[in-house]
Amino acid sequence: MRLIIIGGVAAGSKAAAKARRQNPQLEIIIYQDEAELSYSTCGMPYVIGGVIENSRSLIVRQADEFAKDGIQVFTRHRVMQIDKIRKQLTVKNLQTDTEASVSFDRLILTTGAKPIIPNVIGIDLQGVVTLRNYSDLQGLQTLLSSQQPKQAVIIGAGYIGLELAEAFQKLAIKTTLLEKSPQILPKFDAEIAALVHQYVVDKHVELIVGDGLVKLHGEQGRVCAVESETGKRLAADLVVVAIGIRPNTALAQDSGIALGTTGAIAVNAKMETDAEGIFAAGDCCETVDRITGKPIWMPLGDIANLQGRVAGENAAGGDAHFSGVFGTAIFKTFALQVGCTGLSEKAARDCGFDPISLLVTKTDKARYYPNSQSLTLKMIADKHNGRILGAQAVGFGGVDKMIDIIATALLGKLSCADLENADLAYSPPFSPVLSPVIVAAGALNKKIDTVCF
Ligand code: NAD
Repeated sequence: MRLIIIGGVAAGSKAAAKARRQNPQLEIIIYQDEAELSYSTCGMPYVIGGVIENSRSLIVRQADEFAKDGIQVFTRHRVMQIDKIRKQLTVKNLQTDTEASVSFDRLILTTGAKPIIPNVIGIDLQGVVTLRNYSDLQGLQTLLSSQQPKQAVIIGAGYIGLELAEAFQKLAIKTTLLEKSPQILPKFDAEIAALVHQYVVDKHVELIVGDGLVKLHGEQGRVCAVESETGKRLAADLVVVAIGIRPNTALAQDSGIALGTTGAIAVNAKMETDAEGIFAAGDCCETVDRITGKPIWMPLGDIANLQGRVAGENAAGGDAHFSGVFGTAIFKTFALQVGCTGLSEKAARDCGFDPISLLVTKTDKARYYPNSQSLTLKMIADKHNGRILGAQAVGFGGVDKMIDIIATALLGKLSCADLENADLAYSPPFSPVLSPVIVAAGALNKKIDTVCF
């Protein structure tokens, strides 16, 4: 039996490894159109900032390591077409420009996502980049060393924009972030985004919100300025476009594989598409929001790995399930950690809940302990039954702990009253005597009592 995997970054390489463990006899082939595979996209901003010295260390497994497990890897090969009825692929060798027809018994699509590129004048100028693929990383590294830019404009103040703002400052590149929404991090509630905003401004990054990109100006083929919707002209010898990504679904769509309501490939809990023997995993497919029960597209590295495992196991004859997501995420900009899980207050309201929330600012360690620092936690619950719906946290330590505790509480469908009585680890170097989670849950529980009775 032959399993073919299209795409070999996070979900694809995980699916191959899991399929091999599940079935040692299976023939496994990966087609990857890039020159590299199995690399960490999430680590790229840290390579740019010099935290990770060698970009090659982002590569988890080389093609020859796959070969040791009997997994054949074809890099620089693009699947052009899927005949889902005859179970045939048309594969193009990008080096020789030749095409071949290859049959499969099982297929996993892990075609990922692509950066959104706005259709504006000047977008093709030199010095205008995205950071998504390994070749983007290499291109940006070359540009940084050969051109030594002094002034960057990053379009979009989301995760990549804020991570790169830190990296660029380390390289002494003056940076402006241009964000179209009225606040940075539009998926976060306004009061949390405001804390991040102020911190980033204090770090001497210029932040413009409520203003989008309209045009790029160039001189001799190189970008020299960004023009914004309100008519600002921002000088720039480097422009990073980080306005989000879209699922890469063209191949699936052209082959008649159904997309879901989010626009990503529709899959069930076994990661099966609507075509027999064809699975999908990672950023190209949608999943289920475990709070609302509705389809959601959540393109994150850890989710891609989890889904890849399930697709690989099932394609090799197993029976694994992926239950959906809570949207748990974390990133850092400079020293500030920012995380979230579940629904924001705004999202909860938009989804038809009647949410109530509470913001606490405590410390990450005992207040008197050296280097104890401020930690702000927002907890959101359903006003009617106290069930926790989500949380967001900002601070200089312990944000991952707050978010992971609450993500686990979401998994257990816990209420604030449950969480108020959690038995959590304490010692002064690790936590205040009462964890901010317990303080927030208790205060929110009281607020619910006051508001509802
Ligand atoms: P993003 O969705 O995080 O942020 C995009 C930002 O661009 C948003 O704030 C949006 O409002 C803004 N925007 C959209 N159109 C604009 C315009 N025309 N002008 C100015 N601003 C505009 O996307 P990203 O930062 O590009 O990251 C890509 C993907 O990678 C995301 O899905 C993200 O979740 C993922 N990622 C995750 C992590 C992490 O989890 N730590 C880190 C990096 C990237």
